[in-house]
Parts: sequence; C-alpha cells; structure tokens
Amino acid sequence: MYNKPVILTNDDMAEGVYAASGGNTTSECWTITVTKDQTDAGGYCTFRVDARHSNSAVHISTKTVVKIVFSDTVTNAEFEGFQSSVNGSTVTLTRESHANGYKAGDNFNSLLKIWSPTFQTITTVSYGITCTHAVNVQGGYD
Ligand SMILES: [Zn+2]
Repeated sequence: MYNKPVILTNDDMAEGVYAASGGNTTSECWTITVTKDQTDAGGYCTFRVDARHSNSAVHISTKTVVKIVFSDTVTNAEFEGFQSSVNGSTVTLTRESHANGYKAGDNFNSLLKIWSPTFQTITTVSYGITCTHAVNVQGGYD
C-alpha cells in the first residue's frame, strides 16, 4: 500500500510531534541508518532510510519519529514511507500507529527525496529515531 506523502510546513508542525501523547518515548528499540542513494535525481537527491525494530522488544507503540539533521538548508522533502516535514536543515518523518500494534520486527526501508541549494553535496549531520509507547492494559509499559 502506498500513501502519497503529506508535506507539512513548519507552521503546520508547531510542536505537535513532541508535545502530543503522554507516552513513554524511547529509542533503544530501534536501529536506523540513513545513507545517500542518488546525488542528483533530477534537481534533488535521495537518501535511503533503513530502520529496524528489535525483535526482542515487544510493546504497544503509537508513534515512530525519525529526525534527520542535514549539512545545509532543506527546501523540500518527500518521503515514500510516511509524512515528512522540514524546518531549516532538519527533516522530521512521523508515522502515527493508529492500530496500537505490537512492534516486534516492524521494519521499514524507504526513499527520502531532498531538495536543497546544495543537493548534490548535502550530507547528514546526525539522525535518530524514537518510539512512543502506549500504556498497556495493565497500566504499564511493556
Ligand atoms: Zn519500540
């Protein structure tokens, strides 16, 4: 299933990504790599975002947030996986999990298109991923 990416501006974002949810946010259950795929895909470049959720960490998750800081200003971003937003040189990819599913082995490997004045040479400065846990039926976090 492919959902057309939704591009949000900084104004749309506000602080919703981190302010929303009362969940317990951690990053140790995910491993992520972001690597340059194409330096020039026709006026933009592409990065491959590969994220793997630990098979040994099983819990209810309501959200996955990937935050990538680039070496220059990003003017637009499109992610084939889920919604993206841009703020200066930072791109945030947010996946809401409405199903509250268990997240063992919940991997994705998707392409991120980046527009920048220096798209041919732009690199990642840092990146990270967080997992927001929902309270389970016992009232705790798995
Ligand atoms: Zn997790």
